[in-house]
Amino acid sequence: MIISVASGKGGTGKTMVATSLALSLKDSHKVVLLDCDVEEPNDHILLKPNITGSEPVNLPVPRVMEDICTRCGKCAEICAYHVIAVLGHLLTFPQLCHGCGACSYLCPEKAISEEPRQTGVVEWGHADGIGFVRGILNVGEAMAPPVIRKVKEYANGSSVVMERRKDANLRLQV
Ligand code: SF4
Ligand code: SF4
Repeated sequence: MIISVASGKGGTGKTMVATSLALSLKDSHKVVLLDCDVEEPNDHILLKPNITGSEPVNLPVPRVMEDICTRCGKCAEICAYHVIAVLGHLLTFPQLCHGCGACSYLCPEKAISEEPRQTGVVEWGHADGIGFVRGILNVGEAMAPPVIRKVKEYANGSSVVMERRKDANLRLQV
């Protein structure tokens, strides 16, 4: 069972509801609480978990080999997020990159390789019998979804998953 506590607005009580539900269910179920509000995770303030591990979240971003590149402009044309511009030489804006891999796949000269760029971190631990996972997006990063996806990977094997997120939709999935 997955219970999502969600609101698009801050200050509506997501943290209080999610942590209270997790505490009320922990004696009858194996509960893991996922803090998916990666721009502002704060479930830890109420639960005070013991953090036991962490993993960086990386996105593969393009790295252009200038000596091979012919400035044909194909990569700039294909990128839906305007990460690459060809202005005599190539300019890239890695913070806009979604890591889709299309530019390196379609470059006719194979002049683009990919290198990891860290956008955040996932931490895990436990608090009073509750499994705890949170994602933290690096300051200034715009790409929250990859960090949220990584947080959710840690929900496996739990009978009740509480997730707190900034979202316009509230979901109860059984
Ligand atoms: S597609 Fe490849 S060769 Fe063409 S501009 Fe981009 S990196 Fe250079
Ligand atoms: S990986 Fe995708 S989003 Fe990133 S620069 Fe290449 S085409 Fe654009």
